[in-house]
Amino acid sequence: MADAGAGEDADLCQQCGHPWGKHQLCGYSQEGDVPREGWVTCPAEGCACHQTWSTQGGSPEGAEAAYQRFLAERDGKGPAC
Ligand SMILES: [Zn+2]
Ligand SMILES: [Zn+2]
Repeated sequence: MADAGAGEDADLCQQCGHPWGKHQLCGYSQEGDVPREGWVTCPAEGCACHQTWSTQGGSPEGAEAAYQRFLAERDGKGPAC
Protein backbone atom coordinates (compact mmCIF):
# COMPACT_ATOMS: atom_id res chain seq x y z
CA MET A 1 0.00 0.00 0.00
CA ALA A 2 1.85 3.07 -1.16
CA ASP A 3 -1.01 5.55 -1.00
CA ALA A 4 -2.06 6.18 2.57
CA GLY A 5 -4.11 9.27 1.89
CA ALA A 6 -7.22 7.68 0.42
CA GLY A 7 -10.49 7.42 2.29
CA GLU A 8 -11.00 4.21 4.21
CA ASP A 9 -13.86 2.84 2.19
CA ALA A 10 -12.18 3.72 -1.06
CA ASP A 11 -9.55 1.09 -0.39
CA LEU A 12 -10.61 -2.46 -1.02
CA CYS A 13 -8.81 -5.47 0.34
CA GLN A 14 -6.69 -7.05 -2.34
CA GLN A 15 -7.49 -10.49 -1.00
CA CYS A 16 -11.25 -10.45 -0.60
CA GLY A 17 -12.49 -7.20 -2.12
CA HIS A 18 -14.24 -5.99 1.01
CA PRO A 19 -13.52 -2.48 2.35
CA TRP A 20 -10.01 -2.51 3.79
CA GLY A 21 -10.91 0.08 6.42
CA LYS A 22 -13.26 -2.37 8.12
CA HIS A 23 -10.64 -5.06 8.52
CA GLN A 24 -9.50 -5.60 12.07
CA LEU A 25 -5.88 -5.34 13.04
CA CYS A 26 -5.22 -7.70 15.92
CA GLY A 27 -2.31 -8.91 17.96
CA TYR A 28 -1.37 -10.32 21.31
CA SER A 29 0.43 -7.87 23.52
CA GLN A 30 3.25 -9.16 25.62
CA GLU A 31 3.25 -8.06 29.23
CA GLY A 32 1.69 -4.69 28.55
CA ASP A 33 3.89 -4.02 25.57
CA VAL A 34 2.39 -3.15 22.21
CA PRO A 35 2.03 -6.12 19.85
CA ARG A 36 4.95 -6.63 17.49
CA GLU A 37 3.21 -9.17 15.36
CA GLY A 38 -0.34 -10.16 14.66
CA TRP A 39 -2.94 -10.62 12.01
CA VAL A 40 -5.68 -8.84 10.09
CA THR A 41 -9.15 -10.30 9.67
CA CYS A 42 -12.16 -9.27 7.60
CA PRO A 43 -15.41 -8.76 9.55
CA ALA A 44 -17.63 -9.80 6.65
CA GLU A 45 -19.59 -12.90 7.51
CA GLY A 46 -18.19 -16.04 5.99
CA CYS A 47 -15.09 -14.27 4.72
CA ALA A 48 -11.95 -16.23 5.52
CA CYS A 49 -9.56 -13.49 4.43
CA HIS A 50 -6.60 -13.04 6.73
CA GLN A 51 -3.17 -11.57 6.58
CA THR A 52 -0.36 -11.40 9.06
CA TRP A 53 1.91 -8.52 9.96
CA SER A 54 5.02 -7.99 11.98
CA THR A 55 7.19 -5.07 12.99
CA GLN A 56 10.70 -4.80 14.31
CA GLY A 57 11.03 -7.30 17.12
CA GLY A 58 8.37 -9.54 15.63
CA SER A 59 8.55 -12.18 12.94
CA PRO A 60 6.27 -13.54 10.22
CA GLU A 61 6.46 -16.93 11.89
CA GLY A 62 5.36 -15.43 15.19
CA ALA A 63 2.54 -13.59 13.46
CA GLU A 64 1.28 -16.78 11.86
CA ALA A 65 1.52 -18.57 15.20
CA ALA A 66 -0.47 -15.78 16.83
CA TYR A 67 -3.14 -16.10 14.17
CA GLN A 68 -3.37 -19.85 14.65
CA ARG A 69 -3.70 -19.26 18.38
CA PHE A 70 -6.46 -16.75 17.70
CA LEU A 71 -8.31 -19.30 15.56
CA ALA A 72 -8.04 -21.92 18.27
CA GLU A 73 -9.31 -19.52 20.91
CA ARG A 74 -12.08 -18.22 18.69
CA ASP A 75 -13.34 -21.72 18.05
CA GLY A 76 -13.27 -22.31 21.78
CA LYS A 77 -14.64 -19.15 23.33
CA GLY A 78 -15.14 -16.31 20.96
CA PRO A 79 -12.95 -13.61 19.41
CA ALA A 80 -9.83 -12.59 21.25
CA CYS A 81 -9.93 -9.01 20.09
ZN1 LIG B 1 -13.54 -10.01 3.27
ZN1 LIG C 1 -9.87 -8.96 3.17
